[in-house]
Amino acid sequence: MNNLIDSLVPDNIKTLKAYKPGKPIEALIKEHGINKAIKVASNENPLGPSPLALEAAARELEKLHIYPDGDSHDLKEVLSAHVGVSTDELIFGAGSDELIDLIVRTFCKPGQDQILTHKYAFISYKLSAQAHNVEFIETAVDEGYQVDLDALLEAITPKTRVVFLANPNNPTGQHIRRPDLERFLSRLPREVILVMDEAYYEYAIDSEGKEYPNSLTYRHETSHPLLIILRTFSKIYGLAGLRVGYAMADCAIVDYMNRVRRPFNINRVAQAAAAASLQDSAHVEQSRVVAHQGTRTMVELMTNLGLKAYPSLTNFTLVDLGKPVDSIYRQLLNLGIVVRPLGPWGLPDHLRISVGTSEEIDSVIATLSKVLGS
Ligand SMILES: *Cc1c(COP(=O)(O)O)cnc(C)c1O
Repeated sequence: MNNLIDSLVPDNIKTLKAYKPGKPIEALIKEHGINKAIKVASNENPLGPSPLALEAAARELEKLHIYPDGDSHDLKEVLSAHVGVSTDELIFGAGSDELIDLIVRTFCKPGQDQILTHKYAFISYKLSAQAHNVEFIETAVDEGYQVDLDALLEAITPKTRVVFLANPNNPTGQHIRRPDLERFLSRLPREVILVMDEAYYEYAIDSEGKEYPNSLTYRHETSHPLLIILRTFSKIYGLAGLRVGYAMADCAIVDYMNRVRRPFNINRVAQAAAAASLQDSAHVEQSRVVAHQGTRTMVELMTNLGLKAYPSLTNFTLVDLGKPVDSIYRQLLNLGIVVRPLGPWGLPDHLRISVGTSEEIDSVIATLSKVLGS
């Protein structure tokens, strides 16, 4: 039976490895018989969603028997005003993750085109490329995990259809600076689609002295290539459980992606909560402060433990334990702490740890210190 099923599946699907999400807190509590656990594995907002989003979500519950607006019209209007992009240049996905897949399905010819990114990039790019049988090319980064944009340009071939860049990148936390991005944009061939994945944009923007670029600025410059900018409600807006992300791009790009998109991909609770969360700028600001203070504290405390921790403009930190992390990851799990081991990303000595509340950070660092010393 298994042999028969195996023989029916194309090679690119056979060799695909399912995405391994951070262990849900409920599962951990059940498996280990503990009563409290801390999950700092998926870059979620420790403050939760805005109260405005919760109220809006609750109001939708009695309408659950009615299909959502397939065009997310109201959310689109609110978002359009918020970001200053017209409604026909916006498209929503069930998380920006769905949009990554949609871009591959819309623009890449299986078995012909190539997708290009760098090593240790966000893992969804690779999974979508492989699922749709599109060749996937990764270029080198430097020893601090900074992207080598020249290496990317050199790797471009006539087959390169899409370049994916997360800025800042997950899991390394590194960001591309404005002058470097501008130079890259001016040299990228016009027929290559550049996807700027800005899942941490709201954390990174306006960070002093960091030259973090807002790629929306480059959208209408005709000398520049085709840009698709991805952002999400999963990170700073604290709505990861509802799955809403969006893309901003030329209306012709959006039009094609809309033809491929499933009609009711954004549910009505998600549409209402996302729209409401845009009204709560105080919650966003507070979330940003918590993340920046948190990453700074974590880097400092982990450096004190003798570890190499990488500062970032995001709500997480990459840490190098200098040896394979498997046993430490499991010991932390046994003590009720979920972090993200980065073996699947090709970084077997590294963990990614998200910012929690200050009590959570203290607890995570104390437990890590105990496990490392034992
Ligand atoms: C979290 C993340 C996403 C996807 O988030 P969604 O929940 O699917 O919106 C996309 N890109 C990067 C770099 C991320 O870290």
